[in-house]
Amino acid sequence: KSVEEDSAIQYLQSQYDKIIPEDIKSFKDLPLSQKTLRGLKDNNYTVPTDIQKQAIGYALQGKDILGAAKTGSGKTLAFLIPILELLFCKKWTRLDGVGAIVISPTRELAYQIYETLRKIGHFHDFSAGLIIGGQNLKFEKKRMDQINILICSPGRLLQHMDENPLFDCSSLQMLILDEADRCLDMGFQTTMNAIIENLPPKRQTLLFSATQTKSVKDLARLSLSFPTYVAPHEQA
Ligand code: ADP
Ligand code: MG
Repeated sequence: KSVEEDSAIQYLQSQYDKIIPEDIKSFKDLPLSQKTLRGLKDNNYTVPTDIQKQAIGYALQGKDILGAAKTGSGKTLAFLIPILELLFCKKWTRLDGVGAIVISPTRELAYQIYETLRKIGHFHDFSAGLIIGGQNLKFEKKRMDQINILICSPGRLLQHMDENPLFDCSSLQMLILDEADRCLDMGFQTTMNAIIENLPPKRQTLLFSATQTKSVKDLARLSLSFPTYVAPHEQA
Protein backbone atom coordinates (compact mmCIF):
# COMPACT_ATOMS: atom_id res chain seq x y z
CA LYS A 1 0.00 0.00 0.00
CA SER A 2 2.73 2.40 1.01
CA VAL A 3 4.79 1.49 -2.08
CA GLU A 4 1.75 2.29 -4.22
CA GLU A 5 1.33 5.60 -2.45
CA ASP A 6 5.01 6.43 -2.91
CA SER A 7 4.82 5.88 -6.63
CA ALA A 8 1.57 7.87 -6.89
CA ILE A 9 3.29 10.77 -5.11
CA GLN A 10 6.35 10.52 -7.31
CA TYR A 11 4.18 10.53 -10.40
CA LEU A 12 2.23 13.60 -9.26
CA GLN A 13 5.40 15.50 -8.46
CA SER A 14 6.89 14.61 -11.84
CA GLN A 15 3.94 16.37 -13.49
CA TYR A 16 4.20 19.69 -11.64
CA ASP A 17 6.66 21.32 -14.03
CA LYS A 18 4.44 20.45 -16.98
CA ILE A 19 1.39 22.38 -15.74
CA ILE A 20 0.18 25.02 -18.19
CA PRO A 21 -2.57 27.07 -16.51
CA GLU A 22 -4.28 28.05 -19.79
CA ASP A 23 -4.69 24.38 -20.74
CA ILE A 24 -6.54 23.43 -17.56
CA LYS A 25 -10.21 22.77 -18.30
CA SER A 26 -11.17 20.76 -15.25
CA PHE A 27 -9.63 19.90 -11.87
CA LYS A 28 -8.82 16.48 -13.34
CA ASP A 29 -6.32 18.15 -15.68
CA LEU A 30 -4.23 19.11 -12.67
CA PRO A 31 -1.91 16.53 -11.08
CA LEU A 32 -3.90 16.18 -7.85
CA SER A 33 -4.17 13.23 -5.47
CA GLN A 34 -7.19 10.96 -5.82
CA LYS A 35 -8.24 11.99 -2.31
CA THR A 36 -8.43 15.65 -3.29
CA LEU A 37 -10.10 14.92 -6.64
CA ARG A 38 -12.77 12.86 -4.89
CA GLY A 39 -13.33 15.61 -2.32
CA LEU A 40 -13.81 18.14 -5.11
CA LYS A 41 -16.08 15.91 -7.15
CA ASP A 42 -18.29 15.02 -4.18
CA ASN A 43 -18.87 18.73 -3.65
CA ASN A 44 -19.59 19.42 -7.31
CA TYR A 45 -16.41 21.35 -7.98
CA THR A 46 -15.40 20.41 -11.52
CA VAL A 47 -14.14 23.48 -13.39
CA PRO A 48 -11.50 25.62 -11.64
CA THR A 49 -11.88 29.39 -11.67
CA ASP A 50 -9.16 31.57 -13.23
CA ILE A 51 -7.37 32.26 -9.96
CA GLN A 52 -7.52 28.55 -9.12
CA LYS A 53 -6.02 27.52 -12.46
CA GLN A 54 -3.09 29.84 -12.03
CA ALA A 55 -2.47 29.77 -8.30
CA ILE A 56 -2.78 26.00 -7.88
CA GLY A 57 -0.30 25.31 -10.68
CA TYR A 58 2.34 27.71 -9.37
CA ALA A 59 1.77 26.63 -5.79
CA LEU A 60 2.27 22.96 -6.70
CA GLN A 61 5.53 24.01 -8.32
CA GLY A 62 6.59 25.30 -4.91
CA LYS A 63 6.47 28.99 -5.72
CA ASP A 64 5.47 31.77 -3.36
CA ILE A 65 2.44 33.60 -4.71
CA LEU A 66 1.19 37.15 -4.56
CA GLY A 67 -2.42 36.81 -5.67
CA ALA A 68 -4.62 39.75 -6.61
CA ALA A 69 -8.23 38.68 -6.90
CA LYS A 70 -11.64 40.03 -6.05
CA THR A 71 -14.18 38.60 -3.64
CA GLY A 72 -15.99 35.64 -5.14
CA SER A 73 -13.15 34.61 -7.46
CA GLY A 74 -12.60 31.33 -5.63
CA LYS A 75 -9.52 32.03 -3.55
CA THR A 76 -10.40 29.48 -0.88
CA LEU A 77 -9.83 26.44 -3.09
CA ALA A 78 -6.87 28.22 -4.70
CA PHE A 79 -5.00 27.80 -1.42
CA LEU A 80 -6.71 24.82 0.25
CA ILE A 81 -5.89 22.47 -2.64
CA PRO A 82 -2.14 23.29 -2.54
CA ILE A 83 -2.14 22.76 1.24
CA LEU A 84 -3.73 19.32 0.91
CA GLU A 85 -1.38 18.31 -1.89
CA LEU A 86 1.76 19.50 -0.14
CA LEU A 87 0.94 17.67 3.09
CA PHE A 88 -0.17 14.59 1.15
CA CYS A 89 3.11 14.47 -0.79
CA LYS A 90 5.07 14.91 2.44
CA LYS A 91 3.03 12.05 3.96
CA TRP A 92 2.08 14.33 6.83
CA THR A 93 0.45 12.62 9.79
CA ARG A 94 -1.33 13.89 12.87
CA LEU A 95 1.89 13.40 14.81
CA ASP A 96 3.78 15.82 12.57
CA GLY A 97 2.09 18.87 14.07
CA VAL A 98 1.17 22.11 12.36
CA GLY A 99 1.96 21.84 8.66
CA ALA A 100 -0.08 24.74 7.33
CA ILE A 101 -1.50 27.97 8.75
CA VAL A 102 -4.23 30.05 7.11
CA ILE A 103 -4.66 33.57 8.46
CA SER A 104 -7.98 35.22 7.76
CA PRO A 105 -9.16 38.67 8.91
CA THR A 106 -12.50 37.71 10.50
CA ARG A 107 -14.04 34.83 12.39
CA GLU A 108 -16.77 34.45 9.78
CA LEU A 109 -14.29 34.12 6.91
CA ALA A 110 -12.13 31.74 8.93
CA TYR A 111 -15.16 29.60 9.64
CA GLN A 112 -16.10 29.47 5.93
CA ILE A 113 -12.58 28.36 5.04
CA TYR A 114 -12.71 25.70 7.74
CA GLU A 115 -16.03 24.39 6.44
CA THR A 116 -14.73 24.24 2.86
CA LEU A 117 -11.64 22.40 4.08
CA ARG A 118 -13.75 19.86 5.95
CA LYS A 119 -15.74 19.21 2.79
CA ILE A 120 -12.99 18.89 0.22
CA GLY A 121 -10.38 17.46 2.61
CA HIS A 122 -12.69 14.73 3.82
CA PHE A 123 -10.74 11.83 2.25
CA HIS A 124 -7.40 12.94 3.66
CA ASP A 125 -6.35 12.06 7.20
CA PHE A 126 -5.26 15.50 8.37
CA SER A 127 -6.71 17.24 11.38
CA ALA A 128 -7.92 20.80 11.02
CA GLY A 129 -8.55 23.38 13.70
CA LEU A 130 -10.29 26.70 13.84
CA ILE A 131 -8.50 29.12 16.16
CA ILE A 132 -10.46 32.32 16.43
CA GLY A 133 -11.33 34.71 19.23
CA GLY A 134 -14.47 34.13 21.24
CA GLN A 135 -13.82 30.44 21.78
CA ASN A 136 -12.55 28.72 24.91
CA LEU A 137 -8.83 29.46 25.02
CA LYS A 138 -8.03 26.67 27.48
CA PHE A 139 -9.70 24.10 25.26
CA GLU A 140 -7.89 25.46 22.21
CA LYS A 141 -4.57 25.37 24.02
CA LYS A 142 -4.74 21.69 24.81
CA ARG A 143 -5.76 20.71 21.29
CA MET A 144 -3.14 22.85 19.64
CA ASP A 145 -0.45 20.17 19.39
CA GLN A 146 -2.79 17.85 17.46
CA ILE A 147 -3.70 20.19 14.63
CA ASN A 148 -2.18 19.84 11.15
CA ILE A 149 -4.00 22.65 9.35
CA LEU A 150 -4.73 25.72 11.39
CA ILE A 151 -7.30 28.29 10.27
CA CYS A 152 -7.03 31.36 12.43
CA SER A 153 -7.50 35.05 12.98
CA PRO A 154 -4.29 37.08 13.48
CA GLY A 155 -4.89 38.15 17.09
CA ARG A 156 -5.70 34.68 18.34
CA LEU A 157 -2.76 33.08 16.56
CA LEU A 158 -0.32 35.55 18.09
CA GLN A 159 -1.88 34.96 21.50
CA HIS A 160 -1.13 31.23 21.19
CA MET A 161 2.40 31.95 19.99
CA ASP A 162 2.99 34.16 23.02
CA GLU A 163 1.17 32.25 25.74
CA ASN A 164 0.78 28.61 24.81
CA PRO A 165 3.75 26.34 25.52
CA LEU A 166 2.10 23.56 23.48
CA PHE A 167 2.04 25.70 20.36
CA ASP A 168 4.84 24.63 18.05
CA CYS A 169 5.04 25.71 14.45
CA SER A 170 8.66 24.76 13.88
CA SER A 171 7.77 22.29 11.13
CA LEU A 172 5.41 24.64 9.26
CA GLN A 173 5.43 24.01 5.50
CA MET A 174 2.94 26.51 4.15
CA LEU A 175 1.55 29.87 5.25
CA ILE A 176 -1.54 31.46 3.69
CA LEU A 177 -2.36 35.12 4.19
CA ASP A 178 -5.95 35.48 2.98
CA GLU A 179 -7.48 38.92 2.42
CA ALA A 180 -4.24 40.52 3.53
CA ASP A 181 -5.50 44.02 2.74
CA ARG A 182 -8.44 43.57 5.09
CA CYS A 183 -6.18 42.22 7.84
CA LEU A 184 -4.09 45.38 7.53
CA ASP A 185 -7.15 47.68 7.33
CA MET A 186 -8.38 46.14 10.56
CA GLY A 187 -5.21 47.23 12.33
CA PHE A 188 -3.36 43.90 12.36
CA GLN A 189 -0.14 45.14 10.76
CA THR A 190 2.02 44.79 13.89
CA THR A 191 0.37 41.47 14.75
CA MET A 192 1.00 40.10 11.25
CA ASN A 193 4.63 41.19 11.34
CA ALA A 194 5.12 39.56 14.73
CA ILE A 195 3.52 36.32 13.51
CA ILE A 196 5.71 36.18 10.42
CA GLU A 197 8.83 36.76 12.49
CA ASN A 198 7.85 33.79 14.68
CA LEU A 199 7.50 31.38 11.75
CA PRO A 200 10.26 29.27 10.22
CA PRO A 201 11.62 31.10 7.14
CA LYS A 202 11.93 27.90 5.11
CA ARG A 203 8.29 27.58 4.06
CA GLN A 204 6.03 28.33 1.12
CA THR A 205 3.78 31.40 1.41
CA LEU A 206 0.72 32.43 -0.59
CA LEU A 207 -0.60 35.95 -0.04
CA PHE A 208 -3.99 37.03 -1.41
CA SER A 209 -5.27 40.57 -1.46
CA ALA A 210 -7.98 42.33 -3.44
CA THR A 211 -5.97 45.57 -3.46
CA GLN A 212 -2.25 46.20 -3.66
CA THR A 213 -1.67 49.09 -1.28
CA LYS A 214 1.69 50.16 0.08
CA SER A 215 1.08 48.28 3.32
CA VAL A 216 0.21 45.10 1.36
CA LYS A 217 3.47 45.48 -0.56
CA ASP A 218 5.36 45.87 2.72
CA LEU A 219 3.75 42.71 4.06
CA ALA A 220 4.51 40.90 0.80
CA ARG A 221 8.16 41.93 1.04
CA LEU A 222 8.35 40.63 4.60
CA SER A 223 6.57 37.33 4.01
CA LEU A 224 7.24 36.20 0.41
CA SER A 225 10.39 35.17 -1.39
CA PHE A 226 10.61 35.69 -5.17
CA PRO A 227 6.81 35.55 -5.52
CA THR A 228 4.93 34.81 -8.71
CA TYR A 229 2.31 37.50 -9.30
CA VAL A 230 -1.11 36.08 -10.12
CA ALA A 231 -3.87 38.48 -11.22
CA PRO A 232 -6.32 36.73 -13.54
CA HIS A 233 -8.77 39.59 -13.98
CA GLU A 234 -6.15 42.05 -15.13
CA GLN A 235 -5.13 39.80 -18.02
CA ALA A 236 -8.66 39.09 -19.22
P1 ADP B 1 -13.22 34.37 -2.54
O1 ADP B 1 -12.50 33.83 -1.34
O2 ADP B 1 -12.29 34.69 -3.67
O3 ADP B 1 -14.13 35.49 -2.21
P2 ADP B 1 -14.60 31.83 -2.42
O4 ADP B 1 -13.45 30.90 -2.35
O5 ADP B 1 -15.29 32.13 -1.14
O6 ADP B 1 -14.13 33.20 -3.12
O7 ADP B 1 -15.62 31.28 -3.51
C1 ADP B 1 -16.78 32.01 -3.84
C2 ADP B 1 -17.92 31.04 -4.18
O8 ADP B 1 -17.62 30.34 -5.37
C3 ADP B 1 -18.17 29.99 -3.12
O9 ADP B 1 -19.54 29.83 -2.96
C4 ADP B 1 -17.53 28.74 -3.69
O10 ADP B 1 -18.17 27.57 -3.24
C5 ADP B 1 -17.72 28.94 -5.17
N1 ADP B 1 -16.64 28.30 -5.96
C6 ADP B 1 -15.32 28.44 -5.76
N2 ADP B 1 -14.62 27.73 -6.68
C7 ADP B 1 -15.52 27.13 -7.47
C8 ADP B 1 -15.42 26.26 -8.62
N3 ADP B 1 -14.23 25.89 -9.10
N4 ADP B 1 -16.57 25.81 -9.17
C9 ADP B 1 -17.77 26.20 -8.69
N5 ADP B 1 -17.93 27.02 -7.62
C10 ADP B 1 -16.83 27.49 -7.02
MG1 MG C 1 -12.23 34.36 0.59
